[in-house]
Amino acid sequence: MTTISKKVCLLGDFAVGKTSLIRRFVYNRFEDQYLSTIGVKVSRKTVFVPRSEEMVELIIMLWDLAGGQEFDNVRTSYLRGVSGGVLVCDLCRASTLDSLPKYTNELAHINAKLPLVIAANKADLLDQHQVGIDQVEKVASMLNAPYYLTSAKQGEGVETLFRQLGKLLIG
Ligand code: GDP
Ligand code: MG
Repeated sequence: MTTISKKVCLLGDFAVGKTSLIRRFVYNRFEDQYLSTIGVKVSRKTVFVPRSEEMVELIIMLWDLAGGQEFDNVRTSYLRGVSGGVLVCDLCRASTLDSLPKYTNELAHINAKLPLVIAANKADLLDQHQVGIDQVEKVASMLNAPYYLTSAKQGEGVETLFRQLGKLLIG
């Protein structure tokens, strides 16, 4: 069996749920309390992805970073060696969807063909949604990335999101 290790970065505005998505995917846990990420945290999760006749053992190194201004200073080192990106927006805040092209541009500077997936997160907070699926779809097609409605809180879509990225990473 082939083993491959890939660095994946999560990008998105403050409090969209980047840390929570990683926590759900890696530890199958959720915390309501808000803890802003300080610096960089790297989590690791192994998935098995089929590729033609074989199974590939894919070690996903998930890089998580605080949003906001701190980001600018460490951005270059954060993105160094990245193989794929998860763009995260919060369905309850339209501005976070508008930010996605900006993050995509950051990644495009590293590699224009980087595999990307979009997490439209907080799908569980239906009564607070400001963003329609049609709007997410528009941005997704513009950025040429598949999108998934996710809830880090309830788990919806999270596994599917990372598995899809895994497939794209294996190629
Ligand atoms: P980050 O700044 O992007 O890392 O965002 P966090 O993961 O820290 O999440 C910000 C806040 O949103 C926290 O209070 C989380 O508990 C909450 N949160 C994250 N994802 C979800 C979700 O899918 N549903 C709900 N209801 N809350 C979420
Ligand atoms: Mg965070």
